[in-house]
Amino acid sequence: MESTQIHPFLSLFCKELSFHLESVSARQKVISPGEFAELVSTATKEILDSYLDGTLDLQEYYSSMRDGYKEIAIKSIGSFAQSNKIIEGISDEQNDLLGCPETHQYIDFSSISEKMCDLQSHLSGEVIRANETIKTLNDQVRELELTTTLDPLTKAFNRHALQKHFTELLSKDRFSHEMFILMIDIDNFKLINDRYGHIAGDKVLIFASKLLKKALRDGDRLYRFGGEEFVILLNRTDLEGATLVATRLLNLSRQNKPLYQNEQISVTLSIGLTPIRDDDTIDTLIQRSDIALYRAKKSGKDRLEMEI
Ligand code: GH3
Ligand code: MG
Ligand code: MG
Repeated sequence: MESTQIHPFLSLFCKELSFHLESVSARQKVISPGEFAELVSTATKEILDSYLDGTLDLQEYYSSMRDGYKEIAIKSIGSFAQSNKIIEGISDEQNDLLGCPETHQYIDFSSISEKMCDLQSHLSGEVIRANETIKTLNDQVRELELTTTLDPLTKAFNRHALQKHFTELLSKDRFSHEMFILMIDIDNFKLINDRYGHIAGDKVLIFASKLLKKALRDGDRLYRFGGEEFVILLNRTDLEGATLVATRLLNLSRQNKPLYQNEQISVTLSIGLTPIRDDDTIDTLIQRSDIALYRAKKSGKDRLEMEI
């Protein structure tokens, strides 16, 4: 890692760690030192892994975040300077008042109180504006987080990216080649959470995401659709090729079991496959792959079904 990447790494690390901590603290009040150490090590390992396997370009990620934050910082400094100018103006007026020869002869209480009222209303105006600025900044930070395209836990593309990529893809009149999507749902995931705990559940999600990513070719994309559901876009392939990929994923998950506290966790997948058609919208596409997935679940899980 180059020294210029240490700062972006640390910044991502803190974000990752706070994400893990947030999800744990939502479930339990007390976190043991052991669990905390495990969270720190998971966060570090996750970021390092995605950095090493090339799925995370720190520079690119950081520069998009940095540009956004820079814009926000410039705006806040501008707003701060404006407040300062107003206060400066008020204080000049006060100085003029005090420097005025008449005020040495007698104290003009009504003028002072009038100025103080001015000052108070200016300041309360500033407080209102500052609150508005804080609200805008918070909204912008939230929006910035939305526009980042990676799911923080699994490092797959997030739902927002799926919406964006598929809208672009489906806006074309015709496709020059065949494409398919796989809707993948981890079987009995709730049981995994119940039996081994949510941290183990999170690890299984990370494991599954890595397994799926490794099996894909360049140009194919993995998205985390929701909790334990993933979508894969298979680019430039035919039905036979898409079936082959899906079958390979089923086999990989049967053969590779994640370890948690020295216990192997069995993870199987159900997959729904459907082609992308020229007249598809995101909704029709998801609907068809859901039908196939539902069929896979109904007929016993750990299998592939298609809706052509
Ligand atoms: P099926 O085989 O029919 O798919 O059953 P399932 O148990 O996999 O599906 P179900 O929808 O009943 O449960 C999914 C569970 O996934 C419920 C939810 O608490 C859990 N979950 C969702 N997101 C996360 C997450 O980020 N981390 C963990 N650990 N669990 C999650
Ligand atoms: Mg599900
Ligand atoms: Mg499931």
